[in-house]
Amino acid sequence: MPRVKDNAFIVHKTDYGESDIIITLFSASRGKISCIAKGAKRSRKRFPGSLELFSKVSFNGFIKHPLALTRIDECQLLKPYLAIQEELKSYLNGCYFLEIVNRCSAERQSNPELFELLDDLFTFLSDVPHNRNFNCRIRLFELQIITLLGFKPELSHCLDCGIKLDNDNPRGRFFNFSPQTGGLVCNHCRPRHPAAFNVSQGTINLLNQAHMLDNKLRNKVNFTPQVEAESARLCRALLSWHSGCSFKSLKILERYIDNNGIYKIAANTTTNSINSNKYGVR
Ligand SMILES: [Zn+2]
Repeated sequence: MPRVKDNAFIVHKTDYGESDIIITLFSASRGKISCIAKGAKRSRKRFPGSLELFSKVSFNGFIKHPLALTRIDECQLLKPYLAIQEELKSYLNGCYFLEIVNRCSAERQSNPELFELLDDLFTFLSDVPHNRNFNCRIRLFELQIITLLGFKPELSHCLDCGIKLDNDNPRGRFFNFSPQTGGLVCNHCRPRHPAAFNVSQGTINLLNQAHMLDNKLRNKVNFTPQVEAESARLCRALLSWHSGCSFKSLKILERYIDNNGIYKIAANTTTNSINSNKYGVR
């Protein structure tokens, strides 16, 4: 029986029976792992406050069978990221990213860069009251995670006929994004891609450059509302296409916060007063 010891983030959890919890971890060296923590609801000694969403933990367990749940024997808390749970905007956006990881990453496939990205993202979400360009940073994290999951959009030529995007050539001026092909399609080919939608040249330019930004620039850059909205639409269409489902966390997010990051509810609403059990049961 191979034993496993690693650091990981809690990306999903659900009660199972009277005392067990089924957890999805995203670990540093094995990627996503579906686990069961036997007796976790009763044992404060083996699981001392360590099974909350977003928490970074160190765990011990074993894999009984390649297709079975990994059994977690012990889980120690490294970083709780409690501030995310306390700020509504952070929590709702954080749940969206947890759902992306849960639905779109492959089971037991190492992705150390994605592990690092989650650490950066949760640090950012813990510091929300001090972040000025919140929406823009969220869009950049969304683009980064898509790239690390292997869904980076192809934005230089038509993925159907191969013609290059070229502003000087009337036939090369096309700005339609097709989630199905994972990139651009020209106006001539668009009828064959019913799910394709328009994106502006500004958005394409930005998406082509976004992966080159370092952390310092990410903190300074700001998008126009149009670029923000188009970038979100493009990423969400890609994620939905690859996962084959719509994201429950997004529906909750859109119910409480509009596209400009403004609350649709009383500002003092807390995460506890929201029934967010469709995703991220706490
Ligand atoms: Zn074409």
